[in-house]
Amino acid sequence: MKKQFAVIGLGRFGGSICKSLSEQGMEVLAIDTDEDKVNNYSSIVTHAVVADGADENALRSLGIRNFDHVIVAIGENIQASILTTLILDELGVKHITVKAQNDYHEKVLNKIGAHKVVHPERDMGVRIAHNIVSKNVLDYLELSKDYSIVELIAGEKMNNKSLIELNIRAKYGVNIMAIKRDGNINVSPYGTEKILSGDILIVIGAVVDINKLEDALF
Ligand code: ADP
Repeated sequence: MKKQFAVIGLGRFGGSICKSLSEQGMEVLAIDTDEDKVNNYSSIVTHAVVADGADENALRSLGIRNFDHVIVAIGENIQASILTTLILDELGVKHITVKAQNDYHEKVLNKIGAHKVVHPERDMGVRIAHNIVSKNVLDYLELSKDYSIVELIAGEKMNNKSLIELNIRAKYGVNIMAIKRDGNINVSPYGTEKILSGDILIVIGAVVDINKLEDALF
């Protein structure tokens, strides 16, 4: 059976979640208090309705508890976002993902039952900043304060050398999880695998160690 999603709040973030889920063939219920927004999405999602996410009765009558995953994408109105999350938790929704507007909002959401809190503006800012600072960094995903996954473009220093020759794990304490080349991806490459300049390396490790690797080889 197709997974059923509900998205509450159809701003830029919620709207783009709706589009992407629909493109992936998922069933999506889109909810917003603004009728124009709802009309804009009615041809994209399975159902689009005008309702207030902070209205318990409205959510009940939409059968929100039966959805596999509810995404709260109410941006500016932090009070409504918190109330909506609280109600979803009380109604027993299995997966609740909420967009946080700032760190305080995030703290509250974690306390009141959000299963996952996302902070797209902050996270995208971090990723773009890394990409701007180092020309080799294509993408950057913060796993925790100290650990990250980074996509790096291999330069000349690594060209035609195998992972064993470069001795990356022992020297820098990081792991190369995958190598992307010509649209193909080699996951968990063998030590004998040779790197070519221009390959995209997906590296996981402590931020300090990844920085050391970047300084030495990129
Ligand atoms: P973004 O930064 O993702 O564009 P916005 O704050 O612009 O976010 O948009 C949030 C959306 O949430 C708006 O379309 C707004 O009408 C909707 N919204 C605000 N409060 C509620 C609520 N209580 N219930 C449902 N939708 C709401």
